[in-house]
Amino acid sequence: MTKLKRLIVAVFLVMFGVPSVLAEWNWPWVQSWQSVKLMLAYDEEFDYASHFWYQYNPEVLIDFLMTKVQIEFKAFYIKLCLSYYRSWDSDDSVHKPNEMLKEAIREVGFVSGAMADMLVAFTDQDILNAYGQANSTLGAVIVQLSDLSGVGQATDNVVQHELGHLYLCPDHWMPNHNCIMNGYPYWIDFPWNYYVPTFVVTHNWCSECRQTITGNASRWGITRVYGAKRVLGGSGRFPI
Ligand SMILES: [Zn+2]
Ligand SMILES: [Zn+2]
Repeated sequence: MTKLKRLIVAVFLVMFGVPSVLAEWNWPWVQSWQSVKLMLAYDEEFDYASHFWYQYNPEVLIDFLMTKVQIEFKAFYIKLCLSYYRSWDSDDSVHKPNEMLKEAIREVGFVSGAMADMLVAFTDQDILNAYGQANSTLGAVIVQLSDLSGVGQATDNVVQHELGHLYLCPDHWMPNHNCIMNGYPYWIDFPWNYYVPTFVVTHNWCSECRQTITGNASRWGITRVYGAKRVLGGSGRFPI
């Protein structure tokens, strides 16, 4: 090769070769996230309780709770976008979990995929023998405001548990199994002396649930690619 040819090759490499290699190195920054639009709803009891117990507007309390839940879905590249707030008037005579959820869906007019992908409905009316309920076909959950003696604020645990069902995680019933899907009784000591479900005292996903959510991560919402601008020299940003 003559000196001139070598020079031309070198110039070519610098102009096209090296930048493309750098671009390759940048690609690991590109990450696709599943962006899920949420409709958040609350009934009149939740509205009252959030003012009375927390001195918050219900929207502010829900925002606080959902920010905590979002942390637990970050590992799956699932971004929960709080898109719409609605309120509904819950029938005080209804206590069955399924019926309470259906009433909420009907009254806020939720259809998955129309305005939002998921409905998270908050109530402070007693749900019979449950802290919440999920319908993984309709993409909707109802959650009771849960502030428990000896445990504290655990409403976000219940939301995380119910959203786990929307990603098709099953309930577990196992002693000493540290998972948010575990309903097995956990003893709260003196002076309270009572049982709570394990999921109110943990935020952990077990390895089985991690696999399930990873496999179903694109079940709700749309896939968005973040970070691509970084390759072009822009300021690509992660959503959270
Ligand atoms: Zn469950
Ligand atoms: Zn699990």
